[in-house]
Amino acid sequence: MTPYTPPTQDQLLAIRANAGIEELAQSEHFAAAEPDMVEAIVEGVGQFAAGEWAPLNRVGDLEGAKLENGVVRLPDGFAEAYQHYVEQGWNAIGSPEKFGGQGLPFTLACNVLENLGTANMAFNLLPMLSVGALEAIEHHGSEAQRDKYMPSLVSGEWSGTMNLTEPQAGSDVGALRATAVPIEDGEHAGKYRIQGQKIYITWGDHELAKNIVHLVLARTPGAPEGTRGISLFIVPKYHVKDDGSLGPRNDVRPVSLEHKLGIHASPTCVMSYGDNDECVGELIGAENRGLAAMFTMMNNARINVGNQGVQIGERATQQALHYAKDRVQSARAGSPDKTPVAIVEHPDVRRMLLRMKALTEGARALLYYTAGQVDRGTLGDDSAAMRGEVLTPMIKAWGTDIGIEVASMGVQIHGGMGFVEETGAAQHYRDARIAPIYEGTNGIQAADLVTRKLGMDDGQALIGLLEDIARDAADEPALFALAGDCAGIAKWMREEASLDDRLAGSVPFTTMCSVAVAGWQLLKQVDAIKEGAAPSLAETKQVTARFFLDRVVAEASGLRAGALGGSDLLYALDADKLTA
Ligand SMILES: Cc1cc2nc3c(=O)[nH]c(=O)nc-3n(C[C@H](O)[C@H](O)[C@H](O)COP(=O)(O)OP(=O)(O)OC[C@H]3O[C@@H](n4cnc5c(N)ncnc54)[C@H](O)[C@@H]3O)c2cc1C
Repeated sequence: MTPYTPPTQDQLLAIRANAGIEELAQSEHFAAAEPDMVEAIVEGVGQFAAGEWAPLNRVGDLEGAKLENGVVRLPDGFAEAYQHYVEQGWNAIGSPEKFGGQGLPFTLACNVLENLGTANMAFNLLPMLSVGALEAIEHHGSEAQRDKYMPSLVSGEWSGTMNLTEPQAGSDVGALRATAVPIEDGEHAGKYRIQGQKIYITWGDHELAKNIVHLVLARTPGAPEGTRGISLFIVPKYHVKDDGSLGPRNDVRPVSLEHKLGIHASPTCVMSYGDNDECVGELIGAENRGLAAMFTMMNNARINVGNQGVQIGERATQQALHYAKDRVQSARAGSPDKTPVAIVEHPDVRRMLLRMKALTEGARALLYYTAGQVDRGTLGDDSAAMRGEVLTPMIKAWGTDIGIEVASMGVQIHGGMGFVEETGAAQHYRDARIAPIYEGTNGIQAADLVTRKLGMDDGQALIGLLEDIARDAADEPALFALAGDCAGIAKWMREEASLDDRLAGSVPFTTMCSVAVAGWQLLKQVDAIKEGAAPSLAETKQVTARFFLDRVVAEASGLRAGALGGSDLLYALDADKLTA
């Protein structure tokens, strides 16, 4: 596997041109995000990730996490690398200052995750999940809960998990059965006895952090059926005393680890709560309002999963570029010189390399544009907050789809060496495959876009975005046409299509909208370069943005037929005939 070289200049460009960091820094809230600080963070975390986390990517894949005598073990080096991450304060970038964080924009927290995840996607899930737990406690916890749990989660001394999934409750979270019974007396009076099994829990157990704060969805006695009867609980691995010190172990344990296609260094645990009827948890937020609380943390978590598409795209692209320069095969077609050349000289390899770069940079532009909108929402800009919500399923779904496409092209560029494990190209492809599945499958994201998000602000949240794109695309006919296509489909979906028709077209529609926003944001990068930003990228960005705007955008318009095709054909065969 080639080493990781942080794409610092492209990240800084996206942070400026797409997130608009300079405007954010004009607010009192984000005043610390001044240019020197931004550069120091992006360069610093890039170097740290490349130096300490990237070298563990291969061993993490080969050896993976193991459950030995009830304890999850990671390969040598992970514990130290996590410790250094905590000591250097990277975990605390986006968290509130009151709890020891740096209070910087989400945009910069995204960059920390981007670098760590490009270096080592499986390892990066540890801080990613902790951020989700932190957000749930910050927004829904009582003051006492925030004081008790947040400082150690902010520093990274403790980590966090999200526990929704049970065997019968995957996309249908409302089907979960874990229970929480109030404790009437004794030292835990006022808390709840938690019982049940959760599956697929990412970093559900490990020894890298001193404590693990599990956020667990469960039902209280007599709770309504479905999603309206779910409550959220904090269940620490070790009890936390009032003074913040750790008490005895809680009745929660990892039962087994899943054997997976990729992200082998991320322990995916089956977790058992209350085997001895002694698992104690605290209610967080109101009873039966657990799903809403969980969604607070899932919103940004979805953006963070979209970020993983960018990460894997970057790493696979770097690896492929390196290989294409070295591998020599055949003379250039049509050349009088019959000397074999490096494969980077062949037109089809060029096509793949440029496509990998263009898709990755487009997804990065979309990622930071989304993050900037979230940050404006934090500052009280409601329309930006709404736009952030509309963009979230796009970056999650399309970002992770391109992660797979790019990693697959990376394997292709390696030829047979891509299919054998030696080069590491195959690992990127295997690792990439999970991202469209977890945190709400990409099908569920697309459904979110054509139902809840399509109707936001009476449809204007999405239409306003498409109008902004069309306005700036006057000189870009393909982009202008795509924005128009998306607006036309959105109108049809809102005014004429049945729910089935909308859902049937949801995935192609999501791709079309995502490509339109990414193309638009690449144009913003080109404009920023014209105004003097990122001079070192001036030449390459012209070409990758052109490739995106002329080819990827044009292809996306071709998805129109699928978006408007309706559901009749999908149900032309009944389920028995289809599956016969
Ligand atoms: C490695 C890994 C890590 C994970 N980490 C966590 C974690 O930390 N915490 C946690 O709680 N969970 C975690 N999960 C669970 C993950 O979020 C679920 O796997 C995911 O939500 C999908 O649920 P499912 O596997 O039951 O698939 P299903 O819900 O059975 O879906 C199967 C297919 O049917 C489609 N489908 C289902 N319902 C609908 C519908 N209504 N409309 C259209 N299509 C539908 C899906 O899109 C999918 O293509 C993890 C999973 C894995 C594999």
